[in-house]
Amino acid sequence: TTPTEADLIGKNEVLTIYKPREKYSHKGTFGHALIIGGSYGKIGAINLAGRGALSAGAGKVTAFTPKCGYIPLQGAFPELMLITDKDEEKLTEINFDIDANVIAFGVGAGTDNASIDAFEAFLKTNKKPLVIDADGINMLAKRESLLKLLPERQTILTPHPKELERLIGTWKDDFDKLQKTKAFSKNHKCIVVIKGANTITVAEDKLYVNVTGNPGLATAGTGDVLTGMIAGMIAQGYDLLSATVFAIYLHGKSADLLVDELGYQSFIATHVVEGIPLAYLDLF
Ligand code: AMP
Ligand code: MG
Repeated sequence: TTPTEADLIGKNEVLTIYKPREKYSHKGTFGHALIIGGSYGKIGAINLAGRGALSAGAGKVTAFTPKCGYIPLQGAFPELMLITDKDEEKLTEINFDIDANVIAFGVGAGTDNASIDAFEAFLKTNKKPLVIDADGINMLAKRESLLKLLPERQTILTPHPKELERLIGTWKDDFDKLQKTKAFSKNHKCIVVIKGANTITVAEDKLYVNVTGNPGLATAGTGDVLTGMIAGMIAQGYDLLSATVFAIYLHGKSADLLVDELGYQSFIATHVVEGIPLAYLDLF
């Protein structure tokens, strides 16, 4: 087998990507991210992703959730704007009249057939840059015909190991996993993030290996925060690949800076959000 070439993404690489804020900027300068997802009992995922997007630096964030998201999100999250589906418990018809420059789809969404239909209709009409995570990925695995709609826009997929397996099938070893993921990335013209310890970003033949993060992140909701952060980086003007590797770096760095105080066991997804400012400040 041929060795696989990969770039490491550490502080120096991220500093070449980083764009400082201009004095005469305003919230419009930093874009508008739309986060679509949530379902009855899984509205917290939207809260985590929304906070991730804002703390990563998006100018504005709107969420689109089933109706049951309205009270908890409006009550707990003053910075978030919200549009709701006509259904109480799940996504059934995704329609909104806002000018978002990036969309994150899938966290907490469930995989009801009506929600997959809604996702399909959305993919056919909306061509904005798209981050697909969690149940959004599970929907692609359940209805493979959706995969042919992905190249119509710039797309990032952020599977954890089980979600990746649903997309590419089982693998023999790590090399095989990378080969299969590269093939998937090429075939469907998308960036694929293989999450885990040393998260790898796969952009067709190129691999980018993240150096931050620790087992404190192995806890519910941390992936939802990452999805929001990637969308938040795209919102403020980073290209898709830069946004992805930058967000992954900051997400891991946040955990690295906080586990010293909090310990691996007690670290939870909310802490990742709280550590994003520290991760940014640590760059300088
Ligand atoms: P999810 O399973 O979708 O909630 O995503 C989990 C997040 O935590 C991803 O960003 C993973 O890369 C990260 N993560 C999980 N386990 C580890 C680990 N052992 N070391 C570093 N990062 C991890
Ligand atoms: Mg997840």
